[in-house]
Amino acid sequence: MTTAISPRRSIMDISLYKGGDSTVAGQSNIVKLSSNENPFGPPDAAKDAVARAVHELHRYPSTDHASLRQAIAEVHGLDAARIICGVGSDEIIHFLCQAYIEEGGEVIHTEHGFAMYRISTLANGGTPVEVKERERVTDVDAILAACTDKTRLVFIANPNNPTGTMIGQAEITRLAEGIPPQAILVLDGAYAEYVDGFDAGAAMVEARENVVMTRTFSKIYGLGGLRVGWGYAPTAIIDVLNRVRGPFNLSSPALAAAEAAVRDVDFVARCRAENARCRDWMANALAELGIPSDTSTANFVLARFASEAEANACDDHLRSEGILVRRVAGYNLPNCLRITVGDESACRRTVHAIAQFKAGNV
Ligand code: PMP
Repeated sequence: MTTAISPRRSIMDISLYKGGDSTVAGQSNIVKLSSNENPFGPPDAAKDAVARAVHELHRYPSTDHASLRQAIAEVHGLDAARIICGVGSDEIIHFLCQAYIEEGGEVIHTEHGFAMYRISTLANGGTPVEVKERERVTDVDAILAACTDKTRLVFIANPNNPTGTMIGQAEITRLAEGIPPQAILVLDGAYAEYVDGFDAGAAMVEARENVVMTRTFSKIYGLGGLRVGWGYAPTAIIDVLNRVRGPFNLSSPALAAAEAAVRDVDFVARCRAENARCRDWMANALAELGIPSDTSTANFVLARFASEAEANACDDHLRSEGILVRRVAGYNLPNCLRITVGDESACRRTVHAIAQFKAGNV
């Protein structure tokens, strides 16, 4: 049947985003290391805040998120007027694409960059421009070379998912200074809290007109299920983004939980330290099994196998043991598996299963 109804052409170029699996048929004792979640869940204060918020479910939530923005500003030493909150940082990425992609506009992302940059670009009629990395590290020169007078947005995640690598302040500054005047540099800090003392670009946002930072409550704060993210941007950009934001985009339980979580700085410090300890242990143990990885600055390790066939066979074995990790062929890393850092027992169970696989005892 032919139909006159069709979406904007770029929509059909979008590949569906597939989240990490959470079940395996026939397995009950699952270790889920497929979505970079915090193995310790959210802080208790966030759960208590949700329980309290339940009594007000008949009320609409805040439209301006003033209380959450104030809490974020106090904890991070930022300006509340430069903060916008969204349904995950995914929504902030969407707002940026909705607001800034002109007809024919180009959006730069890196070779192994987060899938939503491309999806949001296509959803908003833009053209994604993929730029090569240098050995799985963001290549500033390659990005600058790809810029044109049509470039509207440049997305980089720092640390990057799924590579786990990051670039330093001097490189970021060079990028912000080198992009064309009509373009915005978006620094995605979804994993920033895993890097001790890292501001994820907040100071640059305050010093420049063309830099935006995005952050999330889905990772170290353990609140992926409630979907809260935020952006930090010059006030002129915040004003634009608020025009495309729905008035009640965040639910009241989500707002309450995020506010309690951001104030629990001890929880964040404990999770950061435990993540670093387990991550480094796991990366070393994998290296001893002949499976290298780049030094990760986030809460996952990108394990590199000799071939795609070996990576997939290892993933099949892990599944049969009830351990879920992430295949990243969709990120053009077919010989790799991305393994979220779990708690100590999850990391030990995973390394044990991979050792069995390598020894051929499967
Ligand atoms: N950016 C990066 C680099 C990510 O890895 C993710 C989550 N996988 C996000 C943004 C989006 O996170 P959320 O929408 O849950 O805040």
